[in-house]
Amino acid sequence: MKRREFVGAGFALAATWPLPGWSAVLQKSGDLPAKSLDGADLMLPGSSVEAFAASLRGDLLMQGHEAYDGRRRVWNAMFDKKPVLIACCTGTSDVRRAVDFAREHRLLTAVRAGGHSFSGKSTCEGGLVIDLQSMRGVRVDPAARRAYVEAGSLLGELDHECAAFGLATTAGIVSHTGAAGLTLGGGFGRLGRRFGLSCDNVTAFDLVTADGHFLRASGDENADLFWGLRGGGGNFGVVTAIEYRLHRMNPVILGGYLGWPISQARDVMRYYRDIMPTLPEELFIECALLWQKDAPSIAMEICWSGDHAEGEAQLKPIRAFGKPVFDDIAPIRYVDMQTFSDQSLAIGKYYYAKNGFLQALTDDGIDLVLDVYQRDPKLFVLFFDPCDGAYRRVAPDATAFPNRDAMYWMGLVAAWDSPEGADAKIEKIRTAWRELEPLARGFYANLSDADETMKAYRDNYGANLERLVALKAKHDAMNLFRLNANVPPKI
Ligand code: FAD
Repeated sequence: MKRREFVGAGFALAATWPLPGWSAVLQKSGDLPAKSLDGADLMLPGSSVEAFAASLRGDLLMQGHEAYDGRRRVWNAMFDKKPVLIACCTGTSDVRRAVDFAREHRLLTAVRAGGHSFSGKSTCEGGLVIDLQSMRGVRVDPAARRAYVEAGSLLGELDHECAAFGLATTAGIVSHTGAAGLTLGGGFGRLGRRFGLSCDNVTAFDLVTADGHFLRASGDENADLFWGLRGGGGNFGVVTAIEYRLHRMNPVILGGYLGWPISQARDVMRYYRDIMPTLPEELFIECALLWQKDAPSIAMEICWSGDHAEGEAQLKPIRAFGKPVFDDIAPIRYVDMQTFSDQSLAIGKYYYAKNGFLQALTDDGIDLVLDVYQRDPKLFVLFFDPCDGAYRRVAPDATAFPNRDAMYWMGLVAAWDSPEGADAKIEKIRTAWRELEPLARGFYANLSDADETMKAYRDNYGANLERLVALKAKHDAMNLFRLNANVPPKI
């Protein structure tokens, strides 16, 4: 359906509008009830909405349109919100119109790329969603070793284009995650010990700021913003494209899982803790406590991205440790490994997560982790990812991402097929986390939730917070972009 038809259809739909209150309003005045930035009720004049729709190349969706429900849904079904408008942007021009419209009406605004925010930050109730899902172009320049990525692209699309040239950069571990949200907050992945965070590999961002201006941020242009966009999330505007540095890499890696019964978990965790910092940076090992085949167990996910003969040698003692009951490590295409967790973290289930960074993991810490996990081993998966190697070679103040002194990233992730009983389970997870949290210092803002206080943010970002606040005040003083790991314009 063409946009102009939609606008007509949208207003004509008033007679069959699913919300009686709204249809009455529309029939009378064409105005739309909506939420302001601070949550107050407001009316969007019908004529403004119509002019906004007419200014876009993409569709402007409202409730009642056949595409509305598909577009409004996000990865975490816990957040079943109904925005008043979804601007399906096709490029920077549409993004600028959407930002102008939002600012002029002080309209509650969410920015959506892959829609994988754990805490549902890329949607909103009664506001505007600036939806980048149609902006999915990825172009690789093999000679320059650069990828030019539109901001709605998913990680699988980035990996796929890079692999065709024997190139790669750090991306997250689930292929349907959005590249933009992940990169703006940092970006851990199976190649991170070797190449650093996804944001460490960015050479430039294209950005529309709250005043509707288009900027390029790189080492040479708007360097302050370039600093802030690498770890400061979506606070400073809508990123419309990202340019990444790429690295040569064999598209076939050695990957798979090793599994042990929970009775060996203590030894396996100590072993993991001891060997991880000694291993070459081509090796990624995630260690996880999880319920599998009707029993609690401990597993390692392995990804070796270097020379295969050397990888076999490095992995030999690990595969022989204790008495593993599962081992499927084999040569596999990196892009296939990047889909291994796509199903267990599928779109549309109900999720909750907590996380923190560990600078060390003591024997006592391991005992505590095992104790907390085994009390209710079906409640969540508990994972450790390495944060050493290239991650730590970047100074904490070189980018806005602050947690450069960590050795491990620890997370609890729970998934349910239905929302029933979720509140009680979330409370149990919070209780478990309160016991584990003292092991950690700082957290990954891309997985943060409403529990994180301003003090926690201050502790997490350290000296970087003041710089982020100054940037926010300069580029978004009205805090138009507040549905994110929000940095206020003043503290
Ligand atoms: P969205 O929900 O679209 O956006 C997330 C936040 O970023 C929102 O606040 C949004 O407004 C903002 N944002 C998104 N795009 C833009 C933009 N273009 N301009 C301005 N603001 C924007 N993290 C890792 O580091 N490594 C992993 O391996 C990893 N795996 C994950 C697997 C799954 C299944 C999930 C759900 C998350 C994972 N994460 C991982 C966390 C992930 O980094 C965040 O959830 C991230 O925010 C997702 O980005 P998105 O674009 O999909 O999300």
